[in-house]
Amino acid sequence: MKKRIAVDMDGVLADCFEQFVNYEYAETGIRKTVEEGSGKTEDETFENARTYLYQPGFFRGMPVIANSQEVLYKLNERFEIFIVSAATEFPQSLPEKQAWLNEHFPFIKWQQMMFCGSKAIIDADVMIDDHFKNLDSFKGRTILFTQPHNELANAGKHKRVHNWLEIEHLLLNPQLYINHDAPADFSPAISKYA
Ligand SMILES: [Mg+2]
Repeated sequence: MKKRIAVDMDGVLADCFEQFVNYEYAETGIRKTVEEGSGKTEDETFENARTYLYQPGFFRGMPVIANSQEVLYKLNERFEIFIVSAATEFPQSLPEKQAWLNEHFPFIKWQQMMFCGSKAIIDADVMIDDHFKNLDSFKGRTILFTQPHNELANAGKHKRVHNWLEIEHLLLNPQLYINHDAPADFSPAISKYA
């Protein structure tokens, strides 16, 4: 049976930090850097983050995180992929997220899209997410995707990755991670923030 992987959207497939930067720049003319968001929540980094989240188009227009399309395409052939996104807090995000996935990840079928509230209900073999609150209670293996808000934190029991090429290495190398419980030989991290 194929292993199941739950993949988050915001901060994993969709570059919501960059989208916040773009919205704030449009409003204030000030373009924040990744360094300015380091170790802070998005609410702390972007004064009007909440208002941007409720603006039509915010979710629909998110930039795609580098290499996510080609790596997820490969993962989708090998594993059972579910896109799991906590979307119900922002109701207008539901159709926007589905349209966004259809445009950028056309190989992901509607049956693979899980728009939910709390992710505590989610059961799978692996979860890829940028928030500890989602990973900490997950029973399977957990991959923390680096984003400015989490990059200073100790990943603890979670495996930190900095980009999708690291996920490809981790999950598509049969000697590593998925098929064996032996500690994986993780290759040097390539940080997009380096
Ligand atoms: Mg996320």
